[in-house]
Amino acid sequence: EEERAFLVSVEKEELAEELLAELAELARTAGVKVAGQIFQSKRFGSTSSYLGKGKLEELNQHLQNTHANVLICDDELTPAQLRNLEESTGIKVLDRTGLILDIFAQRAKSKEGKLQVELAQLQYLLPRLSGQGQALSRLGGGVGTRGPGESKLEMDKRRVRQRIHFLEQQLQEIRKHRMTQRLQRIRSGLPLIALVGYTNAGKTTFLQKAMEQTRAKGENLSGENKLFATLDPTVRSLNIRPDRQILMSDTVGFIQKLPHQLLNAFLATLEEVQNADLLLHILDASHHQALEHADTVHAILKELNCADKPTITILNKIDKVKQSTDLNRLAQQLAHPIPLSLLQEKSLSPVWNMIEELLP
Ligand code: GDP
Repeated sequence: EEERAFLVSVEKEELAEELLAELAELARTAGVKVAGQIFQSKRFGSTSSYLGKGKLEELNQHLQNTHANVLICDDELTPAQLRNLEESTGIKVLDRTGLILDIFAQRAKSKEGKLQVELAQLQYLLPRLSGQGQALSRLGGGVGTRGPGESKLEMDKRRVRQRIHFLEQQLQEIRKHRMTQRLQRIRSGLPLIALVGYTNAGKTTFLQKAMEQTRAKGENLSGENKLFATLDPTVRSLNIRPDRQILMSDTVGFIQKLPHQLLNAFLATLEEVQNADLLLHILDASHHQALEHADTVHAILKELNCADKPTITILNKIDKVKQSTDLNRLAQQLAHPIPLSLLQEKSLSPVWNMIEELLP
């Protein structure tokens, strides 16, 4: 059965539209059709059922009219809110965190990525399982119930705890192995450059182009016009000059309100960022909230204690920027800006030159 989602946000009026637009993008990324959306002003929200009584009635009317079969809320719901909403609407309810976890579950590629996502999902799920050990079966299949790969999230509390323990042990093994690799890399003496940026900014496109132009080893990546095409950090070596080889690592795309379970899960992979000699921040300069996206990225970098690393900001997608004043404003506020269009530009040499200049 096709999944049709109705979106709800409880927010300040001036923020609601933007957040709902992002939520809609996330829903589509998860493979769900968006049937409609409403928001409630933050002042009127309810702590027990998320929405106030009147809004709930309005919502049920919308749900009938649009035949939506999934309700997606923009905030992380408490277990009680989730249950109450499911009871009053009669359809599956998912919150932003559940949705993002579902997307990560679909997209995890490496063994480590899969383990991390499953761990984050189970940690999120545990307090939301009902006392009798009843699992997610009430939700049926589809979005919000997918595990990484093919596994389905249907377990009772005891088994969830056992599985969490098992996953943590596995991850510890992998981290040991990763440490060995890291030491090898340090011994190689090559500078490490980490790509960071908001999702959909163009990181994958950049890496693809960089690899084409530098005849580097490594497989081909395909850019997708979906959030989270990049999930696992990968380190590639690039020859940006005949006499200059660098290593470049790609990280998971940053996003507003990234669920904390995920940030914790990916903290280990974000270590690549912490070990980098230089950061390459890719920004979609054509996005009307480009500066807010940059702020989100900076806030996460700060959390990783990486705010002071030398950073180049690629102001990407200038082919779509309408006002040159907007571009100038961004260039003035961000470190070492290089405006370009990864789709149109032939050469990345301005980037390689700037890297040369900034590397110790
Ligand atoms: P990532 O999530 O940061 O890895 O972003 P991607 O590299 O997957 O790019 C997201 C989308 O933006 C893709 O559809 C790209 O084709 C598109 N894109 C990348 N660079 C440009 C650009 O310079 N101009 C335009 N118009 N689109 C671009």
